[in-house]
Amino acid sequence: MAKKEISIIGAGVVDILVGAVDEKIFSRSSTPVEFIKMSFGGDALNEAIVLSRLGKKVQWINKVGDDDAGKRILNYATENGVDISDVKIETGLATGASVVLIDATGERRFITNKGSSLRKLSEEDILPHVDGMGEIVCLASMFVSPLLDIAATERIFKRIKSKPRILAFDATRAKNGETLKDLAKILSCADCFFPNEAELATLTGETDVYKNISALLDCGLKCAVVKRGGKGCIIATKSAQIEIPACRVEKVVDTTGAGDCFAAGFLYALSEGWQLEECGRFACAAASCSVEEVGAVAGVTSLEKVLRRYHKF
Ligand code: ATP
Repeated sequence: MAKKEISIIGAGVVDILVGAVDEKIFSRSSTPVEFIKMSFGGDALNEAIVLSRLGKKVQWINKVGDDDAGKRILNYATENGVDISDVKIETGLATGASVVLIDATGERRFITNKGSSLRKLSEEDILPHVDGMGEIVCLASMFVSPLLDIAATERIFKRIKSKPRILAFDATRAKNGETLKDLAKILSCADCFFPNEAELATLTGETDVYKNISALLDCGLKCAVVKRGGKGCIIATKSAQIEIPACRVEKVVDTTGAGDCFAAGFLYALSEGWQLEECGRFACAAASCSVEEVGAVAGVTSLEKVLRRYHKF
């Protein structure tokens, strides 16, 4: 396998999408619905797929079970050109899967398997692969596996940064009341952090995005990249703050995975050596392709498509 440029660590799952359902499904023995569809998700897997479609040599690091869902995820990643040689296949482990019940308004409810691979990723699954990682590394799924707590993440980040690399991370909403103060040691190791505005407010207890960005930088983070949905993003370092509007789209169809496509776009541009403002514009262009199609990564089909939008910005 060719040398990896970018390594993405974290979640990958199988989703079974079911819709439209109503709250009365348990009062009937059978409910015919318009669609039952299998798809793939998880923020790290989404990011890796998009980066591969943009032409990068990318690897995904995680673990799956030796079950049907695990095989399907690995096939999907391989078919999309993602290097899976450092994905561990664990005997007897259930691979992360969700049944996604979608109501008539598009609102989603998730049913997940508790003890699955999603919640079993640990330091031991990641550390052996650090030496072979690319020059850009992203932990896409902070707060997803309880085994990857802040202390473990700090040890992993320090190992990754023992070589000259760009280290980025993204997080879901903090699950155990973690605060920005708790994250200070990992923020000081990282080059980029990609929270959305609401996740960041949960960490600080403060809603003012500008104060929150200052707090991130005060912790030693080099570059804060805050995603703001239809408002675009703010990129900030100690010496600059850049606000970038979202790319205008014909119609917003499904925003699932927009943040993952944004992060992948940003990492793509960083690996090309672009300036931060260009990275933000390219990230917004990639994310805008995603929101126009159903499914997290369906809209990001090629580098050319994202570049056309980026140049029209
Ligand atoms: P998700 O969790 O759904 O993956 P997120 O909450 O991490 O997303 P968002 O802030 O919702 O991230 O969106 C990421 C990026 O997607 C935004 O910075 C923006 O560039 C783009 N985006 C989101 N919503 C829209 C929209 N309505 N129109 C155009 N672009 C959008």
